[in-house]
Amino acid sequence: MDEFTLIDQLIAPAAGSRSDVCLGIGDDGAVVRPPPGEALVLVLDTLVEAVHFPRGFPPADIGYRTAVTNLSDLAAMGATPRWATLGLTLPQPDVAWVRAFMAGLQAALAPHEVQLVGGDTTRGPLCLSLQLTGSVPESLALRRDGARPGDRLFVSGFLGDAAAGLASLSMPEPTPPGTRYLRERFARPTARVSLGQALRGLATSCIDISDGLLADVGHLLARSACGAELRVDRLPLSQALVELPDADTARAHALSGGDDYELCFTLPPATPPAVVEALMQHCAVTEIGLITAERGQLQLRDASGPVTPPESSGYRHFP
Ligand code: ADP
Ligand code: MG
Repeated sequence: MDEFTLIDQLIAPAAGSRSDVCLGIGDDGAVVRPPPGEALVLVLDTLVEAVHFPRGFPPADIGYRTAVTNLSDLAAMGATPRWATLGLTLPQPDVAWVRAFMAGLQAALAPHEVQLVGGDTTRGPLCLSLQLTGSVPESLALRRDGARPGDRLFVSGFLGDAAAGLASLSMPEPTPPGTRYLRERFARPTARVSLGQALRGLATSCIDISDGLLADVGHLLARSACGAELRVDRLPLSQALVELPDADTARAHALSGGDDYELCFTLPPATPPAVVEALMQHCAVTEIGLITAERGQLQLRDASGPVTPPESSGYRHFP
């Protein structure tokens, strides 16, 4: 199958449709109509075989993750997802593989009504690159640089599940009882899009956790020129993670494992409890610390005092 047949038969039919798309797949470029009065938010994430997922990983899950990594970046900006373009690099035109990949991609994009409006298809080592465009009222975009001393630090969902799920793929059988759930959190994470939108005008800063909690909080602190005190005994951990036989590794996954795609955000000190409770309609949110004036200092504590951080704080492509 050549690339044009691939596009016509497998990609275009799975593209979705929106009324603000004037011209989608099939021309040299897509033409879209931005919502009046809103600014556009552009994000791009690339997934490379053997770097972001193991060789032989199911194509539907790769498609799903490709979508979620990008949706999560839009969530962290408080944006509404709208349009996507896809860079597909394949070793060979494997029809079954592409069909399953597109099904996974669509399963994640469809609930947000994102339309795939174009892309590029080439031969090479397996690599998936998705570009998403969303929109947000300009002054309400969530940013990394707005945290201030005294702000309260929160995180959505559970931490460490995806890293534990990925690690379990290379474990000998029998794996621990919660493995199925943990693997599912790696293969099909949840982008916190509605939470991100709910945080517009409330959160002073926001970032999504793709590299690991410590690394990503570090990025937020660097941009905000602040420090933070993090309560490691208050991190939200799933039952499956808590029940892992190796408690130290489980804690390391929660602190520095990547791929959870939860949101980490700050709220001003005077935020009323009812406002925090309202956020819980979208997903669980947990208070995990406090922003301090100690620029660049990320202190870990539990109920009894300071805690030593783990050796690796998060994933780096060029260590
Ligand atoms: P060009 O040569 O002008 O770049 P292509 O032949 O690469 O155009 O693509 C033809 C059409 O198919 C374009 O509209 C392009 O956006 C779309 N397209 C190509 N690859 C993909 C893909 N992987 N996903 C979505 N659309 C694609
Ligand atoms: Mg062209």
